[in-house]
Amino acid sequence: MSFASSRIAWVKPSASAWVSQAAKEAKARGEDVIDLGLGEPDFDTPNHIKEAAHQAALRGETKYPPTSCTLEMRQAVLDKLKRENNLDYALDEVIVSNGAKQVLFNALMATLEPGDEVLLCAPYFGQYKDIVLILGGVPVLLEYPAGAGFRLKPEQLSEAITPKTRWLLLNQPSNTSGTVYSDAEIVSLGAVLADHQRVLVLSDEIYEHILFDGRIFRSFAALCPHLKDRTLTVNGVSKSYAMTGWRIGYGAGPIGLIAAMTKVQSQVSSGACSIAQAAAAAALNGPQNDVRRFRAAFERLRDLVVARIEDIPGLTLDPPGGAFYGLIGCEALIGTTTHDGATVASDADVTTYRLKAAGVAAAPGSAYNLSPFFRISTAASEEELIKALDGIAKAVADLKGLRP
Ligand code: PMP
Repeated sequence: MSFASSRIAWVKPSASAWVSQAAKEAKARGEDVIDLGLGEPDFDTPNHIKEAAHQAALRGETKYPPTSCTLEMRQAVLDKLKRENNLDYALDEVIVSNGAKQVLFNALMATLEPGDEVLLCAPYFGQYKDIVLILGGVPVLLEYPAGAGFRLKPEQLSEAITPKTRWLLLNQPSNTSGTVYSDAEIVSLGAVLADHQRVLVLSDEIYEHILFDGRIFRSFAALCPHLKDRTLTVNGVSKSYAMTGWRIGYGAGPIGLIAAMTKVQSQVSSGACSIAQAAAAAALNGPQNDVRRFRAAFERLRDLVVARIEDIPGLTLDPPGGAFYGLIGCEALIGTTTHDGATVASDADVTTYRLKAAGVAAAPGSAYNLSPFFRISTAASEEELIKALDGIAKAVADLKGLRP
């Protein structure tokens, strides 16, 4: 008997989740596997943040928190957005949820009418498309020709907008390509949206601190102030503070939107965990040296991966400007043959072969609507990454018929 409704029966686990599952199964069979599937910092949450959670529990902050957020966390988010992003929001323009994922869900649930279109920039964070579909919306995939650097161009945005368009989902630094837009590029995208009053912008800024080569992050709403009253700025503590397990994300936007999102949250989960909110407030308010340490470490890992991939014939990588992923092009591998005679016909085949031959788990580009690529998370230890890249190099060299 199937328990799943038609609304969700078709939903597959996210690409990174199934890749991690395949890695776990291979490990259980006794195989030596390195899992580069999940986007999760390899660091532990800094101690002062854990201590804040401990103290909140001891103070008795153990009751239902307000639905939208605790007073302390609300103030911490407002102060952070002012201090780091030059954005002014009022107290009732903020919501805190169980991760940025729930902020995204709340926003789309609160606003989408059946058939509303949501513009997604491929390759995109896997959750975007599925949520839109679950909620009866229509994902519109904006793809770029090879060599365009995974960047949405103003003309392309302009052509994609219809009377049904409700959202543009923009994520930078990008999961999966690591793309970071210049200020001028963001401003020109914002200019296109000026006349399309029905279109809302969701700016997913969760990787803002993981930014390389001296770049400075600027929020979409700060660069496009004329769109601030229809922009939802989304962020969270998972990536910047190595707090994936605490499940705290936040959104800031116009009061009507936040009120509608709070209504959704009140029916789904109520306020996010009070103790995790106390920890997140300590993360935002406290010393930021760990954030700088993490960023420097991620940049070193990015450099390591870029240099090593350059040396592997058949693989390509545009150096990511931020985030902790490498979107590796593997076109030259398509049409090759493995040592047991199987033809590599797609990036899904590359994924299966790589796991078997090199013991490296990573998601295929097809999961992000971009082929032939595969995505590795670089948020691993240096030792693991070196071992994984050595394994990949050997597995690629073992293929027969690799085009020069
Ligand atoms: N947005 C993007 C682009 C992400 O990569 C992720 C996590 N992989 C999230 C949102 C969700 O983050 P969380 O729910 O942990 O806050």
